[in-house]
Amino acid sequence: MGLVKKNEVYEGEVVDLTHEGHGVVKKERYPIFIPQTLVDEKIKYKVIKVKKNFAIGKLIEVQSPSQDRVEPPCVYYQQCGGCQLQHLSYEAQLEMKRKQVINLFHHKGKMTHVPIHPTVGMEHPWHYRNKSQIPVGTGRHNEVEMGFYRQRSHQIIDMEQCLIQYDDQNEMMNMVKDLLKKYHIAPYDEQQHKGLVRHLVVRKGYYTQEIMVIFVINGTKLPYQDEIVAALTQKFKNIKSIKLNFQHDRSNVVMGKTSRTIYGQEIIEDQLEQLTFEIGDLSFYQINVTQTQKLYAKALEYAKLTGRETVLDAYCGIGTIGLFMAPHAKHVYGVEVVAEAIEDAQRNAQKNHISNTTFVAGAAEDVILKWQKEGIQPDVVTVDPPRKGCDETFIQTLNQLAPQRIVYVSCNPSTQLRDIESLTDQYELKEITPVDMFPHTTHVETVALLERK
Ligand code: SAH
Repeated sequence: MGLVKKNEVYEGEVVDLTHEGHGVVKKERYPIFIPQTLVDEKIKYKVIKVKKNFAIGKLIEVQSPSQDRVEPPCVYYQQCGGCQLQHLSYEAQLEMKRKQVINLFHHKGKMTHVPIHPTVGMEHPWHYRNKSQIPVGTGRHNEVEMGFYRQRSHQIIDMEQCLIQYDDQNEMMNMVKDLLKKYHIAPYDEQQHKGLVRHLVVRKGYYTQEIMVIFVINGTKLPYQDEIVAALTQKFKNIKSIKLNFQHDRSNVVMGKTSRTIYGQEIIEDQLEQLTFEIGDLSFYQINVTQTQKLYAKALEYAKLTGRETVLDAYCGIGTIGLFMAPHAKHVYGVEVVAEAIEDAQRNAQKNHISNTTFVAGAAEDVILKWQKEGIQPDVVTVDPPRKGCDETFIQTLNQLAPQRIVYVSCNPSTQLRDIESLTDQYELKEITPVDMFPHTTHVETVALLERK
């Protein structure tokens, strides 16, 4: 406190980068966090917020740039809250993500002997998202606006394209914007809870190229529906499904619980390696297909299956990891808390003629106890929990079930470290591979291999 003042301009050198991608300048030991700056850079910044233990600054000028600094290719980058690392070269992004895992496991967890491999990156790290959820709103002059939110706000940046979405998604966004203008269809207004169109959601199969378009509306029907469907399907021959999704709640949740198909089929399909998956409007499906294949291939390599193993796939979603492993195992048991996802997993197994899987709906921590009582003895367990990591009961039961190997996939290495620390009495952490699922954002995904001592 007292070391910097709000609205004052200072000069300093960036000494560190936080996991949110913010540069850190220190005054004595007091940190000032400044977005869009990089380690070793000399910068001029303005303090915009002063708190007891830290301050936040805004970059004014880079006086001497880092060797890793690149020109962000996106014109909306300075304002948009979607990406955080476009000013850092892709090579350096991969290294930053690896360092974050090293800091956690080598330094915090003191597991200094464990190899943390280089982050597996993308060859062309742009246009990788197969799903876009684009907010629709009204601009200052009453015009329709579509694009992503400004950082820490719900103000829409009206955009023509987003460089991490597929090209089709961008073209669709522009076409829908024109159609809404042409037919005077009102965008939703969050403040007043009035107006109709809230989001445009577009999903596209990476291999199949099949497209699903979803209008998320605060209402029951879309005016000029026939004209809009005709215009879209005329231009995009690969549209297989158009839906209305009904979201009447005053909330930030993008999609409501019910939808109606207004054109074509209920689902689209996509492929991961040799497997076909059905994708609905509400089901979870990995966003970055090429990287997902690399992630699952690494998980399969770590599982070292010979065809004789019983495998548990915990937090299985629509069964993707388990179905990847099934052809190489004796039997796969999958568990997932969302019942619809389990129905998808069962259908996906059938569709791919895989008959050695059992998928059960329920919390992993409960179902694993049930399996233990039934005497199921897994050789390999894969886990892929949400950001908060695994439940304590789950980890305890896992220790008792004593599989030979545990393959832990995580989207949050800090909870992964916590869970792995609860397993290290009986298990040795052998290695970790980070995989870049979300280039230009700060998200880090990892696969870890544990073997029984
Ligand atoms: N393995 C899948 C999904 C991973 S996402 C894939 O690669 O596609 C994590 C999943 O964990 C989500 O589907 C979420 O619904 C599920 N989940 C969250 N809490 C859970 C719990 N307590 N028990 C089982 N599944 C849970």
